Amino acid sequence: MSQTFLNKPARTLGILGGGQLGRMSALAAARLGIKTHIFCPDQESPASYVAARSFVAAYDDQAALAEFAQSVDVISYEFENIPVETVRYLKTLKPVFPDDDLLEIAQHRWSEKQFLNDIGIPTAQWSKAICADDVRVTLHKWDATSCIIKTTRLGYDGKGQARIETLSDIDTAWSSLKTEEAIVESLVSFKHEISVIVARDQFGKTEAYCPVLNDHKNHILSKTTAPAPLNNALLNEASQMAVKLAEKLDLVGVLGLELFVTEDGQIIANEIAPRTHNSGHWTIDACAVSQFENHVRTVCGLPVGKTNRHCDAVMLNLIGDDVALVEDYLTQANACIHLYGKPEIRAGRKMGHITLLTPLKK
Ligand code: AMP
Repeated sequence: MSQTFLNKPARTLGILGGGQLGRMSALAAARLGIKTHIFCPDQESPASYVAARSFVAAYDDQAALAEFAQSVDVISYEFENIPVETVRYLKTLKPVFPDDDLLEIAQHRWSEKQFLNDIGIPTAQWSKAICADDVRVTLHKWDATSCIIKTTRLGYDGKGQARIETLSDIDTAWSSLKTEEAIVESLVSFKHEISVIVARDQFGKTEAYCPVLNDHKNHILSKTTAPAPLNNALLNEASQMAVKLAEKLDLVGVLGLELFVTEDGQIIANEIAPRTHNSGHWTIDACAVSQFENHVRTVCGLPVGKTNRHCDAVMLNLIGDDVALVEDYLTQANACIHLYGKPEIRAGRKMGHITLLTPLKK
């Protein structure tokens, strides 16, 4: 991977994408005296409301991309579905972190699982499929009747996946994906879903936040508990996996590693998010240096900050109508309220989050 490092810290950061992750990175940047410019196809976006400047154009608009690149010292992104070609083009103009190789790996489930396995991080058993018959052949080979199939690209929050419980489900499940290629995964009987957020700077220093426990509703993250209430051996193993991943990728930036803890205490990786992660929002209020500040620091050529927490935390996502619950927390002393400024409430839409703090005992 060839990355051009910064020889002096960036003063203006460009972020591709205008969602809440970009917004919270822009807020963290402002605290460090760094300006943020947002590039996003939407006229109004949560990040653009708090940025110094916004560029509204399509991700393949080279003229607009060039103008954006000219206005900043360094470029990053806040979601993984930015076209790799966009990042590769921008990289000819300004340094971009994390590297496009990571983006490419994380955008495609075959390369993601292959990379994890190649560096010795276990995943569910998996196989490639380009038709329903491939799923049948795989299940026959595995001597199994159930599995999960997922589109290789653009899946998120449980979208683009189907569960197969018996062989007769295969054709319907395949058609429901409306895809030309998919990954077949064995069904993991997991006890917990956890994640680890890791940050690494251009000087090669890596810091991981404590692993956290994630609860989902309708496939969308609903609650994160930090730290995950698991034994130290499991927590260490999870952290070490994320650190190893960051080092093998030569990461400059922040990434989230989503993991399953199985019934028999194995940790296996599910997915890499090449960016800040919803399960790391609690770090804004419970750590001196949040995942967003570490995103800004690492991509802007500053040293990564310590990831210790001063409080335990529970983060509750406000999804759709949940946003009305804010009223209940306005007078609660340990509740930190974050709203993303989205004008319209929609079902399944992340409107904000609440972090409940419990200070660590001395
Ligand atoms: P993903 O889109 O890969 O993040 O998957 C969304 C959710 O589906 C995960 O958070 C799990 O709850 C579930 N899931 C994904 N892969 C598997 C698997 N191989 N076995 C069991 N459940 C899974």
